[in-house]
Amino acid sequence: MSNSVSEIQAKAKAFVDEIAIPAEQFYDYSRGRMPEDKVEELRKIAKERGLWTVHLPKSEGGLGLDMVGTALVFSELGRSPIAPYLCNCDAPDEGNMHLLHLAATEDQKKNFYQPLVEGKIRSAFAMTEPPPGAGSDPTSLTSNAVKHGDDYILNGHKWYCTGANGADFLIVMAKVNDSFRRTTMFLVPTNSPGYTMIQEIDVLGSHGPGGHCELKFENVRVPEKNLLGKVGEGFRLSQLRLGPARLTHCMRWIGLSRRAMEIARDYATNRELFGGKLSEQQGIQWMFAECALAIESGFLLTLKAAELLSKDLDARQAVSMAKWQVSETLNKCVDTAIQITGSHGYSRYMKLELFYRDARAARIADGPTETHKMVIGRNLMSGKLGF
Ligand SMILES: Cc1cc2nc3c(=O)[nH]c(=O)nc-3n(C[C@H](O)[C@H](O)[C@H](O)COP(=O)(O)OP(=O)(O)OC[C@H]3O[C@@H](n4cnc5c(N)ncnc54)[C@H](O)[C@@H]3O)c2cc1C
Repeated sequence: MSNSVSEIQAKAKAFVDEIAIPAEQFYDYSRGRMPEDKVEELRKIAKERGLWTVHLPKSEGGLGLDMVGTALVFSELGRSPIAPYLCNCDAPDEGNMHLLHLAATEDQKKNFYQPLVEGKIRSAFAMTEPPPGAGSDPTSLTSNAVKHGDDYILNGHKWYCTGANGADFLIVMAKVNDSFRRTTMFLVPTNSPGYTMIQEIDVLGSHGPGGHCELKFENVRVPEKNLLGKVGEGFRLSQLRLGPARLTHCMRWIGLSRRAMEIARDYATNRELFGGKLSEQQGIQWMFAECALAIESGFLLTLKAAELLSKDLDARQAVSMAKWQVSETLNKCVDTAIQITGSHGYSRYMKLELFYRDARAARIADGPTETHKMVIGRNLMSGKLGF
């Protein structure tokens, strides 16, 4: 590990311990939101400490970390549910920045990417649709755009689009002329006539900034200059976005899994019962050992996938394995931490109950566990990949 990466990692750890965790007292634990004025104040500190958009290239205001370096830093930031957003490297903006950096034109970079990097605006990614539309199976996509002069006329119905309430623009996946092969990404400003944010859907876990929203596109006129990439490149670009974005989720979830176990350890090493500390009970020590093994395994899988992505190699199998393993690990660790901390862990006095509610989405969003198992199994059955 180069010195600079370990220094950034140490800075990220200090930011979480000194700034983000103390600021969690301002966090609305029922909805998972932070007051905007507090966000502004803390984002200023993140910038002063050199932790703003660390994942971007140096030329774009980031620190030029490769995916392995990003994994080391994001897994530190992930220890607090608010730290990634304070450093402008949370989903969905972080994945959208990555995609725009790779695929946007100069004009699109100026209008969409730059303000996003500066934290002046937010964005959302709109792929999922109500049944019978696209969900686990993207081939069921129903949203459609038809060319009309220099514009495309977009119609569609999307839901569970994170961050859409209050976002300035959306990246929308839609077919062109009802042709699946011509699936394309459209950059849609949210002030476009015909676009409606129908509702922020009430969910089990955090609503985060901008919630998880249902959206309608009724004859929305999208100028040709707002196509991201070319007609028919939608799925190629979504692979460019989803691989790294799934993995950056894993990095943050590793951090949250560690934090849950740290909270549990604090409790167990202080709680007196049956004539000693709770942490002296072998049954409890084994719970910690099992979670530590799961975290370590998940982190190693994440690092393996990160290294493949850093070397521009095919990382799909490794990303699916990491996403499956780490999302399950997060659920296991938070559940175990609540068990160790007893009734207090179940209450809102501790933060574990929010982690628990949020953890549940990890096994569904960005591909449910079952679709990742399907991908892994198919790759193995094809004989192209070994065991
Ligand atoms: C918190 C959260 C945030 C999200 N953010 C976004 C976002 O920003 N943008 C966006 O476009 N979408 C977003 N989503 C949607 C998410 O990507 C979808 O929920 C996911 O792709 C699954 O699609 P679905 O919900 O339609 O479930 P369905 O496709 O209806 O699948 C239902 C269940 O079927 C099972 N299943 C699916 N395939 C298989 C298989 N091959 N074998 C066995 N079982 C299978 C799985 O258990 C799955 O959970 C978000 C979802 C959540 C929960």
